[in-house]
Amino acid sequence: MSWIIADEIDRFNSFPKKVASHLAVEAVCEHGFVVKPRTSGTRLATNKKFGLTILGLTHGNEYAGVAVLNNVLALINSGVVKLEIPVVFVLGNPWAALENKRFLDRDLNRSFCRVENALREEKRADVLEGVLKDTSFLVDFHQVSRPSDRPFFIFPYTKASYGFAREIFPAMTMVTHWGDSFSSEGMCTDEFVNLEGGTGISIELGQNGFDVYQVAAGTESAVKAIYTANRALKGEVLDAFSLGSSANRGELYSWAEIIKWPDAGIVDLKEGWINFGAVKAGEALGTIDGRLINVRAGGRILFPKYLTHEQQLQLTTRPTELCRIMKPIAVSDLPS
Ligand SMILES: [Zn+2]
Repeated sequence: MSWIIADEIDRFNSFPKKVASHLAVEAVCEHGFVVKPRTSGTRLATNKKFGLTILGLTHGNEYAGVAVLNNVLALINSGVVKLEIPVVFVLGNPWAALENKRFLDRDLNRSFCRVENALREEKRADVLEGVLKDTSFLVDFHQVSRPSDRPFFIFPYTKASYGFAREIFPAMTMVTHWGDSFSSEGMCTDEFVNLEGGTGISIELGQNGFDVYQVAAGTESAVKAIYTANRALKGEVLDAFSLGSSANRGELYSWAEIIKWPDAGIVDLKEGWINFGAVKAGEALGTIDGRLINVRAGGRILFPKYLTHEQQLQLTTRPTELCRIMKPIAVSDLPS
């Protein structure tokens, strides 16, 4: 058996026709539905309609997400995973996925909370906002474009998001940030859910494409997210801070430096940078028109962007960032 993106999207969309009798399913948007237990005695400690939303394909070429959603749906349908809360499953940008593109007109994950709605992703963001506004917890699955030596959580820091992530996967590396938005271009899904009073996190599974280890890590995270959201919505307080060091054993990082894509010039990033690769203070990442790009502080590199000279010459809009440098932080460095 091999994974084919169009087949995985079809498999996802055919779920409502195959749903087991102990479950009810209702469409919430195109390529999105909520799955609920038919009988539930659970009273939810929230005024939101959906306990948890699990998103895949927010970026079209990050295929592992749809395989994760299909795995989790199969586990719920067979009763192996017991569902007590309404869980929404959504494919963010399957149209871009079918073209193996990150997006069609603009980055969907920078399109929330924008006034403009002329472009396809702006329209899709408007539809998804309706679902995310009514979501208590969100897990959004992503992949990176270069290799990564691990899967990791990434989200704007809130105490609730930190607690949710740590409960799901105590040992998983976490990248978090506060103060400025992740991007000035528009809001991400997790940021939007937080703004609306929910708790949003994203998980980067590894380099993009179908990969069995990444799909397994994603499936485990999603199943744990269902149980964790369930506990929280029954009124249990998720407080990773009170659990002691065992709950905080995953590595924790934040930004040391964001290296902008230059306004002019051709970038030559040194070959071989991968996510979480170590970089020393003052080390050169590459060149811009032959001038060295030196990092200020050492740390680990994230999201290195490689474009060939030809790709750079054909750009209509230049990328905003070349990469980010992360520094390890302690739990005590997090804002209170
Ligand atoms: Zn992504």
